[in-house]
Amino acid sequence: MNNCFIILAGGESQRFKSNVPKPYQLYKGKPLLLHSVDKARDYKKFNKIVIVINNKHKKYIKKLKIKDVKIIFGGKTRAESAYKALASVKKENIKNVMIHDAARPDFSHQLLKRLFKELKNNKCVIPAIQSTDSIKLKELNKISNIKRENIYLTQTPQAFNYSELYKLQNELGSEVTDDANLFIKAKKKIKLIKGEIKNIKITINNDIKINNFVKYGIGFDIHRLVPNKKLYLGGVKIPFQLGTLGHSDGDPVLHAITDAILGACNMGDIGEKFSDKNKKYKNVRSTILLSKVIDQIKNKNYLINNIDINIITEKPKIKNYKTKIVNCISKICEISPSQINIKGKTTEKLGVIGKEKAIACEAIVSIIKYD
Ligand code: ZN
Repeated sequence: MNNCFIILAGGESQRFKSNVPKPYQLYKGKPLLLHSVDKARDYKKFNKIVIVINNKHKKYIKKLKIKDVKIIFGGKTRAESAYKALASVKKENIKNVMIHDAARPDFSHQLLKRLFKELKNNKCVIPAIQSTDSIKLKELNKISNIKRENIYLTQTPQAFNYSELYKLQNELGSEVTDDANLFIKAKKKIKLIKGEIKNIKITINNDIKINNFVKYGIGFDIHRLVPNKKLYLGGVKIPFQLGTLGHSDGDPVLHAITDAILGACNMGDIGEKFSDKNKKYKNVRSTILLSKVIDQIKNKNYLINNIDINIITEKPKIKNYKTKIVNCISKICEISPSQINIKGKTTEKLGVIGKEKAIACEAIVSIIKYD
């Protein structure tokens, strides 16, 4: 296996009006660029992934902390960027290379499989779809019809034999806009395969807005504090002379979050899902219950956008445990710690919480539904 996946993310994104450059904008809950990186990595057939970025975007790529990829700066044009990427792996003995545009986050593993299959007998394989719109040609104010059947809209990833493509790049230079065009110019065979309708190019803010549908959920929970019990808050064991009473481990933070998520996804509440009449859930860790809910919402195409949490206690003070709790929740919910916020509150010594007889928590969650 010596396959390389090159992701082009070096453009200026002029058509994309936003302060954050397009590859780093959130799309379906994560930065656009990461969709392609993760998909290539999860496919497990690429031993080299190269990302070509714009050198003005250094601070954005740093924040993503992507591991085990080669990051290089692009050139002035798409072709120049592709050439630089190919040159950067010159010594790696690459056999097959795919070149992909970071603006297309929705390609499937099935498409990669078909590209690899055709690459066995071809040196250039391009996915393309036929136009569903009728097409006209305008030349010198004269408008004529073009047969729709003859028009192909090309997509990425495009797959190549590495040495052939690199040779053509060197011979024909970088004025050619597209890698497949090198093969056209050199009059070499291009194999077209069926592209994917879903594999669209994200061009304007509207694409992202249409694809994201935000919903909100709220959760609340309270547990008695009693002696001889453990205290878990947000999945973290807190050293304290009292612990919470509950059928499960009595973690009010994870229970409030679980309820908030279920609420946002219109899936009922934690009591319905995990009844305290069910012996199976006696003393169960709430981390397990929340993980189950996360799996269920993932299957329904929901992603968590952010969680905000109020933990209401007189004692213990949660200030020192915040980071630990955030990290624990981020792992269970499969989101970044930056998507979670915790606030420690007291009730000014008033009521059951103020008298240290109970701990309460409220949480609000926003989630995104995508197709
Ligand atoms: Zn509870």
